[in-house]
Amino acid sequence: MVFRVVRSFRIGGIEVRLDPSVFVLVALVVWVFTTWFREDHALPVAALMALIGAVLVVLTTFAHELGHALEARHRDIEVVGITLLLFGGVTEMHAHGQTARDQLAVAVVGPYVSLLCGALFGIVATFAGDLLPATAAAPVGQVAGVLGWWNVLLAVFNLVPGAPLDGGRVLRALLWMALGDRMRALTISVRLGQVLGVALVGFGLWTLTRTLAAWVPALAFGIVGIFLVRAAGSELSNARMDATIEGWTVAQLMGPPPTALEARERLDTIDLSLHAGDADLLPVTDGRNLIGVIEADRLTSLSAGERAGLVAGDLAEPIGEVPTVDLEDDLHTLIDRFQGDHHVVLVTRNDRQVGALTEREVAQALERLRRDRGRRDPRPTLAAEAV
Ligand SMILES: [Zn+2]
Repeated sequence: MVFRVVRSFRIGGIEVRLDPSVFVLVALVVWVFTTWFREDHALPVAALMALIGAVLVVLTTFAHELGHALEARHRDIEVVGITLLLFGGVTEMHAHGQTARDQLAVAVVGPYVSLLCGALFGIVATFAGDLLPATAAAPVGQVAGVLGWWNVLLAVFNLVPGAPLDGGRVLRALLWMALGDRMRALTISVRLGQVLGVALVGFGLWTLTRTLAAWVPALAFGIVGIFLVRAAGSELSNARMDATIEGWTVAQLMGPPPTALEARERLDTIDLSLHAGDADLLPVTDGRNLIGVIEADRLTSLSAGERAGLVAGDLAEPIGEVPTVDLEDDLHTLIDRFQGDHHVVLVTRNDRQVGALTEREVAQALERLRRDRGRRDPRPTLAAEAV
């Protein structure tokens, strides 16, 4: 999933990102809570209680996600990060290498944390009257009471058995254990998640037909429903991509390497057709090691006049900042390297540079893999090892 991140920071080595829509969540919660608290308190007090309540909603949502992330890390599953957004939170982690047991443990820990938060706020709400002075007891007790129920509802809603909700992941892990087929288990949980999403949209519409005044909950049901349908769909396509690239290495994606240019080679004397071919990038060497890359488009777009007087080294982009991947690494590692602003990855073998891959080349190769999946032996369609 791609999020528009406004702020990101790290907690305990885990990247936490705030999507702008999290502020919409805060605003909505402040609005709803203020109308509730307004019945017993003056507006400024009610608004302050609502604001504290909204911040606690975000913090307890974060605690839920942190539960997932820490359990995953405890099981040696790489955690990409936590994103907080309108619908709460999302913890992204690598699916590969997970067993059904890992999946079950990582999924249940989130609702468990929410129930724990619910219990803690419940205790505060129950004993606030005994422990605090009378003026503070009522507002603290009320905020804690609302937060307690919120967390219990969050846990219960998340345990509904449809992906991408935690309950969907629990179901998926149990089905995987029972059927012994990870993809079938995933497909069933995703379909259930989509049914749930459609049902929520339907329920929202039904509410509207009963009374137009209920447009706020109707809209909320609709938005959550659509979010579920889409998130479930992308979970399935991600898993299919995972299954597609399972067992492949970088070496199997690489075509025969394009002939390298030497940095001191003059561009007006070389035959470009020998070098460019289908490759996006031309390696530039100092005679032995790769020192940079030139985009083939850039080279072929130069006129003969522009090429005169230039050597390959003049156009080469230095490779110092480019991420590297080993020829024997798996494709998950390769795809990870493109995160951030990187469009090129250097391929090495035993710390010696053997070539480079662009994002476009990798995307095309993955598309070929996806098309070939299901054929009896797709591998011959790709070029053999590059060295
Ligand atoms: Zn969760």
